[in-house]
This record gives sequence, structure tokens and C-alpha cells, in this order.
Amino acid sequence: MKNPHIKTALPGPKAQEMLARDKAVISPSYPRDYPFVMSHGKGAEVWDVDGNRFLDFMSGIAVCSTGHAHPKVIGAIREASEKFLHISSDYWHDYQVRLGETMNRLAPMGEPVLSFMCQSGTEAVEGALKLARYVTGRPRVLAFLGAFHGRTMGSLSCTASKYTQQKGFFPTMPGVTHVPYPNPYRPLFAGDDQGQAVLNYIENILFASNVPANEVAAILIEPVQGEGGYITPPKGFLEGLRALCDKHGIFLIFDEVQSGVGRTGKMFAAEHTGVKPDIMTLAKGLGSGMPIGMVVAKKPIMEKWARGAHGNTYGGNPVCCAAALATLELVEAEYAANAASVGAYFTERLKDLATRFDVIGDVRGPGLMIGMELVEDKASKKPATKLCDALLTRAFHNGLLLLSCGISTVRFIPPLMISKADVDEAMTIIEASLEEVLAER
Ligand code: PLP
Repeated sequence: MKNPHIKTALPGPKAQEMLARDKAVISPSYPRDYPFVMSHGKGAEVWDVDGNRFLDFMSGIAVCSTGHAHPKVIGAIREASEKFLHISSDYWHDYQVRLGETMNRLAPMGEPVLSFMCQSGTEAVEGALKLARYVTGRPRVLAFLGAFHGRTMGSLSCTASKYTQQKGFFPTMPGVTHVPYPNPYRPLFAGDDQGQAVLNYIENILFASNVPANEVAAILIEPVQGEGGYITPPKGFLEGLRALCDKHGIFLIFDEVQSGVGRTGKMFAAEHTGVKPDIMTLAKGLGSGMPIGMVVAKKPIMEKWARGAHGNTYGGNPVCCAAALATLELVEAEYAANAASVGAYFTERLKDLATRFDVIGDVRGPGLMIGMELVEDKASKKPATKLCDALLTRAFHNGLLLLSCGISTVRFIPPLMISKADVDEAMTIIEASLEEVLAER
């Protein structure tokens, strides 16, 4: 398609020069699939160094929740940074206390919580694992197939995706057992109730054999699975998991690094079911782009974390806390609701597209955490991996930034402030790109 916002061949001349310089000095471990060299952004629009303008439906991997350069967030960052950039986590300051108070009011636990601040999702998960093991005195953890929790050794051990399968990382942390995440589109167990089947497997097979329940400190789960394919567990599953944890004295940890802070159309994904985790991890969208993560735990749990049991130098950085406060205020006031209504409109439009294209097997996900799984055809459900890659590349050349996840799934994670007009523009590009790549097959 001809998009008037794309003015040069991609990558343009300035981008090409930058890509060559980057290659000479930056680690090749970053999975950079599209030659996009950013100049600046505003809301859901981003410009590259050659003046091409793209619609950003990946938001820095679900980070730029309030859009690029939101004036309120920028103002909060400026105000905090003019006072001080850092004072070490050994001292107190107003931004951190206010963020703790805000979290205490918003957290889905339904009772008082205490917060620990860090810099990333990985660190938040690492902290949550450490907290659960420390407080219970138990060594084991259950996590889920397809999960992504980070890439440090503890969080990587709980991650169960392509990132874990590379040589050179083993042995990972002992005591982690992975169980299937119930996936309504690709069921692993016989029967209609995949959620109940997974619960039965944990209780009757795992706990009855080599993973005794009284050795399990925590069950770590993404309430909507992210990198694994934007999978929402079936009704009743999280409730069942809560009951299982209560029965055996296991902590339920919700990793809301990706699903939290308005992404699913509610402040936290936990609110869709009302299931209350014992511990929750946050990062990504929390700081609108500033590096902040949080471990949030019910007060009686977190207060057992003795002085010095865990800590960091930058935790509770004032500038990051100020960005998080501004973000939470915006998300609470309007963006979670916007994600719910614009997300419903977007999903409806994608589902309509699915009726016209046999290669769209499934459209799913709450709010603006939407997955569109591509298949060879609806009947076989065979993953269409090459088609998925080709679609993303074509969408990039047509002016739309996207990412994939799980099994040949295109994911849509735009900033939470987008309008229906943004969705309409994205849909024009998605449909044209799909037609183009199918015509070339
Ligand atoms: N947990 C979840 C659910 C995530 O999606 C991610 C990142 O994608 C992480 C943890 C790790 O977060 P970070 O990349 O900030 O370390």
C-alpha cells in the first residue's frame, strides 16, 4: 500500500548509517527485527530519523502506556529531577512514600499491602521469588509452560519459552516445575474444561508424586499470559488456583508486569476475576518508559522480610517514582477505561477481519492486550509462522509497528490512550498488509 507518511525506502539513508554504527558497538543479543531508528514520538505516533511517521502499536513492548512524551509524565519527571536524581534506598523521600500509598489503595489484594521498588520486571519477579521462599521456608516454585518472567537466572528458571531453551544456560535454578497454561484455543488435555484439567494435574499428579505441596513456596502465573501468546485462562481457573494455594499454604504470585496498570482495561488483570494474589509484580507500563518495577505483597507477608534480606541501590528512585505516580493517576482517571472501550472496538474489528480471512484462527485478549493467531487454515489450526513474520515486516513497511508472541500470534499493545481513529488507521494497514502477503504466497 502507499502510505503518505512513509516518505523513503526503509531503512532510509540516515537509518542505514545509524544501523551500521550500531552494529559496530552494540551487543547482537538484542532481537531487532525491523530497521526502525527512532527520532521522536508523540502519543501513538513515532517518527524515524528520515522523517517517516509510523503508528506505534507495540509501545516499547507494552511500556509506553500513556503514549510517547505525555506532558503530565514529562512534567512529573522534570519536577522530580530538578530536585534530586537519587539519594540511595537507605533514605526516605516523598515520591516513594506516595507511590507506596497509591499502591496500597489500588492493589487487588483487598487488604493492606507493602511495596518494594526496583528497576525492571525481571527484578520484580526475582524479588517475589525470593520473598516467597524466604517467608515460607519452602524451596519449590510452580510456573507455567509458555511463561515469560525475565532472563536473570531465577526469573529465567521460571520462564518456559524459546528464551530458556538456548544452550549454555543450564542448570537453571533447581526446584522449578512447569505445568501447562490452560489454553482454550489449543487445548492440551482431553475434555472441555482445560482449567479444571490443569488443576487436577497439579493436585492429583504433581503433588502426589515428586513435587510435594508442602515444599512449594509459590505458584507464579501471568493472569493473562503475555509472551506465550496473549492467552486468557478459562473461567474458574484462577479461582481454582487460589483455592489450591489456600489449601496447601502456597503463595499465589501474579506477574502483572505486562498485564498490569490498565493494559487489560482494568487497573490490574486480577480484577477481571476478583482473585486476590498474595504477591504481585509490576513494571513495564508502570513508569510510562522510566525503569521501575515493584513487588507488592500483602502486609503480613512483606513485613516478614527482615532488614537487609533484600535491597538495591536504585530502588525507589525519585524520578521513576514520580513517573509512576503520574502514570497511575492518568490510568486510573481515564486510560484503563479507554483501553476497555477502544480495546473492545479493536477486537470487534479484528474478529470481523477473521470472518473474511481463513488464516486468522483466533482473536483474543482483554482491553489493549490483544492477540491474533495466524494459522494455515481455521480447520487445521496449523501455525502459520512464516506468514506471521511476513505480515509484521509488511506492516512495518506500510507504517505500523507491531510485534509477535506465542505461536504465530500478532500482538497489539498500543498506548492506552489511542482513539478509535487510530484503530481505524491501523486496521487499514493490517488488512492491506495481510492481502499483500497472501497474494505473494
Ligand atoms: N514478566 C512478564 C510477564 C513480562 O512480560 C516481562 C517482560 O516482557 C518480564 C517479566 C520481564 O520484565 P523486564 O523486561 O522489565 O525485565
